[in-house]
Amino acid sequence: MALIVQKYGGTSVGSVERIKNVARRVMRARERGDQVVVVVSAMSGETDKLVRMASEIAGRPDERELDMLLSSGERVTIALLAMALIEEGCPAESLTGRQVGIVTDSAHTKARIERIEADRVRQALAEGKVPIVAGFQGIDEKSDVTTLGRGGSDTTAVALAAALGADLCDIYTDVDGVYTTDPNVAPNARRLARISYDEMLEMASLGAKVLQTRSVEFAKKYDVPVRVLSSFDEGEGGGTLVTREDEAMERVVVSGVTYNKSEAKITIVGVPDRPGVAARIFGPIAGASINVDMIIQNIGSHGLTDLSFTIPRADLARTLEIARGIIADIGAKDLNVQESIAKVSIVGVGMRSHSGVAAKMFETLAREGINIIMISTSEIKVSCVIDLKYAELAVRVLHDAFNLGAEPAAAEA
Ligand code: ASP
Ligand code: MG
Repeated sequence: MALIVQKYGGTSVGSVERIKNVARRVMRARERGDQVVVVVSAMSGETDKLVRMASEIAGRPDERELDMLLSSGERVTIALLAMALIEEGCPAESLTGRQVGIVTDSAHTKARIERIEADRVRQALAEGKVPIVAGFQGIDEKSDVTTLGRGGSDTTAVALAAALGADLCDIYTDVDGVYTTDPNVAPNARRLARISYDEMLEMASLGAKVLQTRSVEFAKKYDVPVRVLSSFDEGEGGGTLVTREDEAMERVVVSGVTYNKSEAKITIVGVPDRPGVAARIFGPIAGASINVDMIIQNIGSHGLTDLSFTIPRADLARTLEIARGIIADIGAKDLNVQESIAKVSIVGVGMRSHSGVAAKMFETLAREGINIIMISTSEIKVSCVIDLKYAELAVRVLHDAFNLGAEPAAAEA
């Protein structure tokens, strides 16, 4: 008998009909002899709707109140799913973040889980009930309601799986797994049967929106196998298993191509080349909770250098405001902005043991006449910033260059 945490995303519980389907899927797992704990999101579109209503009342809604509001979406789905199960004769019990004892810090709207008590979950299981847990929410030490950031139900599910020592965490979503790239961009994209935690972390943070990044960090830290599946597939055994790295994974040089079209680039021109300047620039930006992604500093000449960096386009106005103040302070000359950029990346643990991967990426882009604006690398990733209008083309040619398409290697483990 295995203990499985099943998480259902907003689309999977998007209507009463779909909630009834989820109930049947939960019951099938029970009939196979497994113990099931369920985590659900709000119905699709509900959280967005609540955010919209709040923004009609206040430009910057009070974050404590926003969390109180947003957490209500998941209350609806836990109760409806519990009712659907009970109606089918399957004992079930809905539980809020508070009832489960999901304790977080007090960073409203982006809280981090500190511990999970889960006594009520264990108790429900012992009584033969299916615990249905509200995703995305917790409470802080003052017992104020907190939320874990958009997409946070994934993290609830994986963290709960870790706390319970579950055998597997199944994440049901509207795609049937993790693909070599976005199938809307490259129709020959292939579903990966397996992917390592590190690759998934890169893919998640680089813009493949399948799992919340925090959930993958949890999975890696506590070694929880996570399977991404579609709740619309009737068969079993599909999906993508996110798991510990092994030798077979290393033989594949590139596992996926990702892209991100939501960043902008700022260049500060004529920055005095002396110690402490970078800290003066990036300190206040970080202080405003703006996530700087790539940073490139040129070789200085005549005591001056240029410094370019990328940030989420949504934070551009705020960043410019901060940066303008700083350049006056440090005596830099000028500042320019490039808004229409895209970042394309290749990811694969095999890069650790293969050479020439970056060169092949650059050649492939050059052959299409695509100019590279910035480059950054990690052990298992190479990213290039290019002109936004070439994003899709770049993804397609890279996907083909690294043989990720379906034709030759449709082989499935
Ligand atoms: N309902 C929340 C959101 O839409 C959390 C989640 O779905 O994971 O972001
Ligand atoms: Mg999601």
